[in-house]
Amino acid sequence: MRAIQVRQFGGPEELRLESVAVPEPGPGQVRVRVKAAGVNPVDTYWRSGTNPALPLPFTPGLDGAGIVEALGAGVSRVREGDSVYFGGWLSGAYAEQALLREAQAHRLPQGATFSQGAALHVPYATAHRALFHRGQARPGEVVLVHGASGGVGMAATQFALAAGLRVIATAGSQRGREWLAAQGAHAVLDHSDPSYIDSIRGLTGGRGVDLILEMLSNVNLGKDLPLLAGGGRVVVIGSRGPVQINARDLMTREADVRGMSLFNVADDALIAIHEAIAAGWRTGVVRPVVRREMPLAEAAAAHQAVLEAGAFGKIVLIP
Ligand code: NAP
Repeated sequence: MRAIQVRQFGGPEELRLESVAVPEPGPGQVRVRVKAAGVNPVDTYWRSGTNPALPLPFTPGLDGAGIVEALGAGVSRVREGDSVYFGGWLSGAYAEQALLREAQAHRLPQGATFSQGAALHVPYATAHRALFHRGQARPGEVVLVHGASGGVGMAATQFALAAGLRVIATAGSQRGREWLAAQGAHAVLDHSDPSYIDSIRGLTGGRGVDLILEMLSNVNLGKDLPLLAGGGRVVVIGSRGPVQINARDLMTREADVRGMSLFNVADDALIAIHEAIAAGWRTGVVRPVVRREMPLAEAAAAHQAVLEAGAFGKIVLIP
């Protein structure tokens, strides 16, 4: 089969389309014919070796969707021929075929395209985990989705609005802000304009926000803490380096900074999150935005695009 391979850590040029052996499913494993593979920022950290280094060579890709074509012994969650989306990794989604543990495969919601399926796991499971598990969001609270135009932020905005939170959402592009306003966000701000901080104070009557979902903590965490109401929480979803904070901002508010990593979520908790995603699809809450579909051979260009400003949902590779 054709698959993208990373043979040494480095820039996007290290993503090479090669011919590799088709993986055979062992007990509890599933092989999927990949129809779409999602591109996430974390794929670029692994490619460059900035995340804990993976054994080389490897095929990137945590998100995908396709058709189940082979089952290992004892698999009961899916059958051959099922349309599924998946999240997680045994052999990597940037390929014509991908090997998974059966717990990583979920039925593709009725009416969803494969590209939409490839935009479900990382963005929506992260958003759900951040909002409801780590963030303990409650109806009526005010949440700042800081970076709401990307995959995770759009998903968080949809979940938060449906759960009865008041949503302040930020985007750096006009297109992102228009989309967020159309979703029904209560206020939409531009994080590239420093006046957004005063706007948040004004919007909350000086009280501050209860919860911040932070996509770029290395830039924003120090500015986030003074925006919190008493008892407020920041969930660190994304961070690309160190940051300075004033710990007094936490002390006086009895506020919390909480990290989260999707990789820490156990299979049973992930399966429960995917039940919530399926329910969200049925009720129209969950509607992933696919910004761009690109051929698998253009994985390098996709890795450049996913880190550029002007995010708008998900980039997907088509094998
Ligand atoms: P994405 O689609 O590339 O979106 C990035 C978002 O960050 C966009 O909304 C972008 O807005 C926004 N942004 C850019 N500059 C910003 C600033 N100064 N302040 C606030 N927001 C800013 O990425 P994603 O898939 O949504 O992921 C977001 C981050 O979370 C990434 O760093 C990713 O690695 C991380 N992540 C972590 C986990 C985890 O388990 N902890 C899981 C998934 C993702 P504009 O482009 O409109 O400016």
